[in-house]
Amino acid sequence: MTVSWIQHRFAGGVLALDTANTVVLRGDPDRGFDRFENTSEIARFAEAAGTFRAAELGGRRLEAAEPERIAPVVLDIRETTDRLFREAVLQGSFESSHLSDFLEACSRGVAAARGKIGGQTRPFGDPATALAFEAALAVSALSLLSGDVPRRLRICANCRWLFMDRSRNSSRLWCDMAVCGNRRKASRHYQRRKETREADHGER
Ligand SMILES: [Zn+2]
Repeated sequence: MTVSWIQHRFAGGVLALDTANTVVLRGDPDRGFDRFENTSEIARFAEAAGTFRAAELGGRRLEAAEPERIAPVVLDIRETTDRLFREAVLQGSFESSHLSDFLEACSRGVAAARGKIGGQTRPFGDPATALAFEAALAVSALSLLSGDVPRRLRICANCRWLFMDRSRNSSRLWCDMAVCGNRRKASRHYQRRKETREADHGER
């Protein structure tokens, strides 16, 4: 079955976090799964990212015609990104060996770009041509190290996805209010009603 790459799956706020979030319920051996398990999904994800991440990419199209070939680099960037920044959110600092692994993975991604990337106004380069997906992923991941970005990273209180909190008072709890926020509210509501009912019936 193919994945529907809908807007919610791009709730990370940045291409590199959306990619990290292609592992669902990471660390949960019973319910967790990988949306890139079928590597052809990398190409479909890259196509959807061209739309949902158009602003970040400066309108540059992503090229992922050979998903099987690029999968090792993509997955390496994805996993080192998640490990490094999840830890940074939880502990407030980077583990140096994890940072080193991350930079190495990103270096391999950048090496796949042909021609020029970079520049202050267009970090992903000229939108007239397509950019290798793994190179774009690396540029996006590296941007997470800059400025005040690290202190805006969060872990969703419902689904554990990583996301960027751009709210003015930095108080977001959910990757996506419409999905995770409401799900949490609904389960709290259910729990309260259940407790009230149990109290009414003298049950424990
Ligand atoms: Zn969430």
